[in-house]
Amino acid sequence: MTALLDVDGLDATPGGVAAVVDAGLTVASGEVVALLGANGAGKTSLLRALMGLAPATARRLDLDGADLRTASPEARARAGIGWCPEGRRVFPGLSAAETLDAAGPPDRAERRRRAAAALALFPDLVPHRDRPAWQLSGGQQQMLAIARAAMTGTRLLLLDEPLQGLAPQVATVVAAAIRRAASAGAGVLLADPSPARALAIADRGLLLQSGRIVRTGSAATLAADPTLPSLLVGG
Ligand code: ATP
Repeated sequence: MTALLDVDGLDATPGGVAAVVDAGLTVASGEVVALLGANGAGKTSLLRALMGLAPATARRLDLDGADLRTASPEARARAGIGWCPEGRRVFPGLSAAETLDAAGPPDRAERRRRAAAALALFPDLVPHRDRPAWQLSGGQQQMLAIARAAMTGTRLLLLDEPLQGLAPQVATVVAAAIRRAASAGAGVLLADPSPARALAIADRGLLLQSGRIVRTGSAATLAADPTLPSLLVGG
């Protein structure tokens, strides 16, 4: 598989702290990669660095062969990277339809096409598309936050703990939508502190410990790795 995202030698230093050190990873189109690690291991910092939101340097940061190392977050979004931060952060006063519209490109027809594709990932949102976000349940807000990330064109989705705090049935719906996004061709990098939950939907996993990637492998290999729990303790 050719890599959609190809990263090597990435150091992230939010607030001057070496939160991610010498990270190398790839994500292919159609692939879900789980980013595992304890609280403070560097998952958010790595995702934010990939989106251009945290200070970082890298030997390589390519999306489909294009060098994004000096690209702004807006340019990375235009290149097709969608970002869904931890804790949803949807605008409470905007409806789902307005939220998606605001996140889309200038071209109106393209915005509509992308909104339809984003809502197709989450059929449960369709009946609620004209309600303000504050009236949506936590699970519906999470779906909306991922759909908003998909408005960049769904080439690469960076999802920070999208299953955290959701009731199990809702987490199942969101997990299925993430797999559907990958089946439609997106590459997905998904941070999650729970390996069981993340590896159940991922193809591959990476494990961060104290800012360094200390394990990589297929989801099945990592899920069966007896050393995994000990690596998930402490940052
Ligand atoms: P969590 O699941 O708690 O969000 P995480 O794995 O996403 O954890 P990060 O939030 O990336 O971890 O944090 C990695 C390390 O970098 C932590 O020690 C954190 O305190 C530190 N850090 C992150 N951002 C900053 C910042 N802006 N200023 C100072 N330190 C930071």
